Amino acid sequence: MQRSFHHISDDRCIFAFGPSSSPVEKAKPGDVIAFTTLDCFSNQITAEDQYVSGIDFSRINPATGPVAIDGAVRGDALKVRVLEIAPGRRGTIVTIPDAGVLGAETKKSTTRICQVRDGSVHFCGITIPARPMIGVIGVASDEETSCGNPGRHGGNLDTTLISTGATLYLPVFRDDGLLALGDVHAVMGDGEACVAACEVPAEVTVRVDLCKGLAPAWPVLETDDAFFILVSDKDLSEAFEEGFSSAVSALAKANDLSWEDAYMLASLVVDAGVSQLVNPRKTIRVRIPKSMMTIGALLEALHMDA
Ligand code: CA
Ligand code: CA
Repeated sequence: MQRSFHHISDDRCIFAFGPSSSPVEKAKPGDVIAFTTLDCFSNQITAEDQYVSGIDFSRINPATGPVAIDGAVRGDALKVRVLEIAPGRRGTIVTIPDAGVLGAETKKSTTRICQVRDGSVHFCGITIPARPMIGVIGVASDEETSCGNPGRHGGNLDTTLISTGATLYLPVFRDDGLLALGDVHAVMGDGEACVAACEVPAEVTVRVDLCKGLAPAWPVLETDDAFFILVSDKDLSEAFEEGFSSAVSALAKANDLSWEDAYMLASLVVDAGVSQLVNPRKTIRVRIPKSMMTIGALLEALHMDA
């Protein structure tokens, strides 16, 4: 099949994933798509004397797209491999009163502009190695979901591991999938403590494919050595319970174990991690080493209708 290259510019963006989105481009499985993305403030903050309170809040968290993937239907997994993330040179980070892990202690709005160059982020005289990642990436969900919230469709997952070389599997809910992404961070610590990271405009290049009939109940991320199930919930404990429940049932099915043996195996080899603690729904991940199963077995075990 002829494979094509697409470019989506940053004036084509959405602020919610859902039924109302209409595609700005059509791609086929195997195609490469480059997205130019705005930062999470729609590039409205350019100086340290500008605060979040002074910008148009209706334009927070834009995602460039959406792109229709030919042949994608409900029940498929959309496979998105991240080929490259090129962050812009100006990064922005803010504090917002009452926001973030320390919201109660945060009394005033602050803005810092960071230079991003030569693989480093320069913040307050401190040099930090850049680790570019995608904050918002998802498909159209059944209900309109703000790009500020994560869920089964992806969205504002703010997961540091969604970076170059990783592959994300998203469940398709609506015809053509409708992939959009944005909110790139030049660097972020797990948790995203202060509610923002080093927010940058960027160029993101991905390859899309379909795994027919293999929609997982939650987004699944594949790295060199592990699979991660990404679960989002208002309640952190419930998110971890759901993540481990999913991991245990996958370990049982893939290794032909009783639930109890799979539970004990999870206790031996599955690592719990935090993606972000600051969005309306928080995102956790459970890490399953690749030696435990194949991606096909994992997607089958986690099927959204299972
Ligand atoms: Ca975000
Ligand atoms: Ca962000």
